[in-house]
Amino acid sequence: MQLNFIDNSAIASLSGRTLPVIDPSDGQPFDEIQRSNERDIDAAVRAARECFDGPWSALSAAERGRLLMALSVKISEHTEELAALEQRDCGKPTKQARADAAALARYFEFYAGACDKLHGETLPYQPGYSVFTWREPHGVTGHIIPWNYPMQIFGRSVGGALAAGNCCVVKPSEDACLSLIRVAQLAAEAGLPGGAINIVTGYGHEVGDALARHPGIDHISFTGSPSVGTIIQQVAAERHCPVTLELGGKSPQIIFADADLDAAIPVVINAIVQNGGQTCSAGSRVLIEQPIYEGLLDRLGQAFEALRVGPAAMDLDVGPLIRQTQQQRVWDFLSDAQASGIPLVAQGVVVEEAPESGFYQAPVLLADVPVMHRLAQEEVFGPVLSAMSFKDEDHAVELANATRFGLVAGVWTQNGARQLRMARRVRSGQVFINNYGAGGGVELPFGGVKSSGYGREKGFEALYGFTTLKTVAIKA
Ligand code: NAD
Repeated sequence: MQLNFIDNSAIASLSGRTLPVIDPSDGQPFDEIQRSNERDIDAAVRAARECFDGPWSALSAAERGRLLMALSVKISEHTEELAALEQRDCGKPTKQARADAAALARYFEFYAGACDKLHGETLPYQPGYSVFTWREPHGVTGHIIPWNYPMQIFGRSVGGALAAGNCCVVKPSEDACLSLIRVAQLAAEAGLPGGAINIVTGYGHEVGDALARHPGIDHISFTGSPSVGTIIQQVAAERHCPVTLELGGKSPQIIFADADLDAAIPVVINAIVQNGGQTCSAGSRVLIEQPIYEGLLDRLGQAFEALRVGPAAMDLDVGPLIRQTQQQRVWDFLSDAQASGIPLVAQGVVVEEAPESGFYQAPVLLADVPVMHRLAQEEVFGPVLSAMSFKDEDHAVELANATRFGLVAGVWTQNGARQLRMARRVRSGQVFINNYGAGGGVELPFGGVKSSGYGREKGFEALYGFTTLKTVAIKA
């Protein structure tokens, strides 16, 4: 049984209730987490506040950095254990689970080094004045995390917030808590004071809502669906609490006729099948210039047919989806496609070893998807790639921008001037030219425009969001 982690102690919820933890590979329960309530959140916020008012703010920036580095080292030492937890909890193939644990360590390494490099400025003003700015932490930050990349999103969000001097209350997804509870324990072992990182598990509408509403929370970092993002924004507006929203996407891969297709094909495939397509920045639309449309569809189709799906521990191309409702969601999209006469070009194979009770879905390639169809407009959040053709650069831009999202875009062309024009014209938070990062590296600011959210996490830029600027003017 897993407990909450508050003030460096493992604590049962005051509710006395628990929730089962389900293994997506076989659909069976194997552990329990706490089904916490608003009193648990209150205890966590108080612990975080005491830490912020006490030991955390008493550290120099360099000392804070050393503690975050110690945590990074601890995480690296426990990579296999953390990857195994996340694999069972989220159904991640081994390679993906290990990559996520390595990224978590790297986030803390990056932000450890950033702690003592964050500073304000001196400003020119009127004669006789000295004016400067300080970057101050918000205080206690709330972090609401989804299930698709728990370790990575915890790393980028909590890593940045701690580096900027905040103390954190974290609400993981009810579907993916195990690795984060363990990371909080490792943080205590690494020497972080009690209250710096607190983990409270449970349902979003119960404990997530309580966190977003708590008057002791000074900033909310929310990563999740656009619909819950709207609720968070509304709740936070009641008390004018600043929010960072990292929401969904319908990211295009735009492939011009002059592209290096041998380089593009494996990247385009990976961008939609990585983590079973359950990635906010999944390249879920492929826009192909007309002269190469049929030929490229053929090649993509062959690659799709070679994809194998099975239990996470088999470490195939794709693992199970997170839960039955997610599987049902993908089925609903696919039956809509069928009803609309959208051609299914190719699909991968679910291996025989996959238990029927697991949540499997073979990757699917669909062709000629109309731009306003929901397959081209909404997040499927499964391994489904929608292809459509474009006739020229203007048409490519029009299609790329024709959704309510704007998270990431990929552009494939050898023409340098076109690379720059496309980078400028596509509306998204990140643009990759002749590569695709599905979120990119730890160092690269990440976030969206339009309904993909606002604010940036990752990179040094995130530290500005986790601080508030104070201007000091002295007349002397
Ligand atoms: P979700 O919105 O259902 O849940 C996200 C988190 O919010 C969970 O911890 C959940 O318990 C909590 N929550 C739910 N209802 C709440 C409420 N009323 N008040 C407070 N908290 C609440 O999203 P999900 O299904 O876990 O994740 C998938 C979504 O996340 C997709 O839309 C995906 O694109 C998005 N996502 C975005 C990014 C990004 O960086 N832009 C990264 C990963 C996932």
